[in-house]
Amino acid sequence: MKPDFLFVPGPVNVPRRVALAEAREVIYHRGEEFAELLKSVDAKLKRVFRTQNTILYFTSSGTGAMEACVTNLLNSNDEVLVIEGGKFGQRWRELCQAFRVKHHVIALEWGRAVRPEQIEDALRAHPKISAVFVQLSETSTGTVYDIESIAKITNKRDVLLVVDAISGLGVVPLEPDKWGVDCVVAGSQKSLMVPPGLAFVSVSERAWQRAAKSDLPKYYWDFNAAKKNLYFTPFTPAISLVMALDEALNIILEDGVEHLLARTELYARATRAAVTAIGLKLFSERPGAVCTAVLVPAGLNSKEILESLRRDFSIKISGGQDHLKGKILRIGHIGDIGPKDVLGVIAALELTLHRLGYKLELGTGVRAAMEVFAEHTMPVASL
Ligand SMILES: *Cc1c(COP(=O)(O)O)cnc(C)c1O
Repeated sequence: MKPDFLFVPGPVNVPRRVALAEAREVIYHRGEEFAELLKSVDAKLKRVFRTQNTILYFTSSGTGAMEACVTNLLNSNDEVLVIEGGKFGQRWRELCQAFRVKHHVIALEWGRAVRPEQIEDALRAHPKISAVFVQLSETSTGTVYDIESIAKITNKRDVLLVVDAISGLGVVPLEPDKWGVDCVVAGSQKSLMVPPGLAFVSVSERAWQRAAKSDLPKYYWDFNAAKKNLYFTPFTPAISLVMALDEALNIILEDGVEHLLARTELYARATRAAVTAIGLKLFSERPGAVCTAVLVPAGLNSKEILESLRRDFSIKISGGQDHLKGKILRIGHIGDIGPKDVLGVIAALELTLHRLGYKLELGTGVRAAMEVFAEHTMPVASL
């Protein structure tokens, strides 16, 4: 069977150049060649992260690096604040529970964005809080948070700001050094266009000071061990994925980091215009570039929509997670995707909804998306 074209917020379609790089001969990870490779990757990745802070490399999915932040930045008697507006905010909370860290939660209705004042209020009410854990883009709802404003609040105090940018890195604006974000977590399989298996975290000077005195248990995820062996990594790295990442970063930098950001935002904007034009409702109050979440129209079954898209078009979009299962659809805009694909997924969605009995005039969504593309003079060529 033909593999599905992935319009999901990770894992994403991998460019052929990246897949070919991954297929190269494995090199020895204790030799200079590997250290040179990782050094070169590191210089390029820092440009995508937009940071001069140390970036640590872990062989795991993104969650491994999230766990590493909890166990390396905290002490057993610390109190932290978690923003829980979806599946991934929930993950920060569960990590705090797993390591028995006292945590305060700002629980948001899924689809809502945290208001920075809520964070200010929580820090004032609980002055012992020493770190805030939040998402850049809460992928389960397609919601982007205002990290710049949140950083202004944490920087007024001795409070670390730890941002899960696993899906948002490179496609949602984030300026760790300019704004003062202590740790940024990312993974290989989202906007970086590499298969799953690598996780990254950038660590500020302030965060290193916390890491020096952290007493929570850790072994594989030890920041200090990772720093000591920076370009060799303490354990066997996923060598082939590092080679793939090197090539993906070449593509991103040839294209330009600003271009990746602008292009992905444009795809999201075109998609939002399209789904709204055919009468679907956006789920998120602050939608971002990673994925567009829409409510499943009344009377239709999301499983049927997803199955028809796969069967008839080899297109995979996502449904909702947890209590949103069956209630929303999510269309991803990251990975090896170009404008022709954006127009294609909208056309396929229109046809699918039409066949399932939803009332719409065919072409309405595609036209709305085309109008968004037509307004833009910036180059929109796919990779
Ligand atoms: C995908 C994702 C994760 C989880 O990453 P895994 O690689 O599945 O461990 C965490 N946070 C966000 C925001 C994500 O999009």
